[in-house]
Amino acid sequence: MTLPCVIAHRGASGYLPEHSLAAKAMAHAMGADFLEQDVVLTSDDVPIVLHDIHLDTVTDVADVFPNRANSDGRFYAIDFSLDEIKQLSLRERFDHVTAKPIFANRFPLQHTALTIPTLREEIKFIHGLNISTGRIAGIYPEIKKPAWHRGHGKDISQIVIDVMAELGFDGSDDPIFLQCFDPKETRRIREQLGCKLPLIQLIGKNEWNESDADYEKMLTSKGLKRIAEYADGVGPWMGYVVDDSGQPTDFTAIAHQWNLVVHPFTFRADQLPSWAGSFGQLVTTFFRRAKVDGLFTDFPDKAIQARNAAVC
Ligand code: CA
Repeated sequence: MTLPCVIAHRGASGYLPEHSLAAKAMAHAMGADFLEQDVVLTSDDVPIVLHDIHLDTVTDVADVFPNRANSDGRFYAIDFSLDEIKQLSLRERFDHVTAKPIFANRFPLQHTALTIPTLREEIKFIHGLNISTGRIAGIYPEIKKPAWHRGHGKDISQIVIDVMAELGFDGSDDPIFLQCFDPKETRRIREQLGCKLPLIQLIGKNEWNESDADYEKMLTSKGLKRIAEYADGVGPWMGYVVDDSGQPTDFTAIAHQWNLVVHPFTFRADQLPSWAGSFGQLVTTFFRRAKVDGLFTDFPDKAIQARNAAVC
């Protein structure tokens, strides 16, 4: 049988600064099936691996370039060239207002000598690990804020698809999922850009403002059927799959009726839903009772251990 997959969310981000190559190496060594890349563009149109459109929650940009904030006080990756971004030290995630870490017991807030990788650098790095270890970990890039990028004159999806093709990812059987929150863009990637890669439609909460979509409508059979017209699977917020009393909803069964794989997010050992007594119980509930096909986690080692105990 095929085991459900464990996707390293921003790498082994429970242990090392998210989206550092070190976090990806650790996740690879832990046996993660897929390593995630969030992708935004620099001012010179280079796709880089960074979760936010801002630089100020994971780097020292405010110290290195103190006069380069936008009028809203934030530092945007799209206002910096790749050369400038490479001068920044990548750190554990922190609150840009209070300067306090988001997760108190993770990697300390300090200079790291880690830097933000480009998408090309990261894919080549993972390819190297696949060769040297003899174990293939897939990749899982996310196109961030396509409408926002378009408003700045940039077609991020086309740029990312071109880089993927250049590095050998262009077929429906390649070890990759391409993900996006914006359903108009995910459909465009399939139908207008002609992308054959496996596509995942992310389903968040409307209040997150990830796009102008109404995510509530995607939760119904009709909504999931529409997604199946262009995507191979869905990446829902975990609360849509198992409710706040710990009971599986009918989400996964409906998605499976439309042949969509289900990869919920985000499983964190240091941020459990109130119903879960342990990380092991959380993961076991999703794999054994909700029957998901994979999940995104900051702690791939713990998720793999729980998965193997739950389904092997
Ligand atoms: Ca992501």
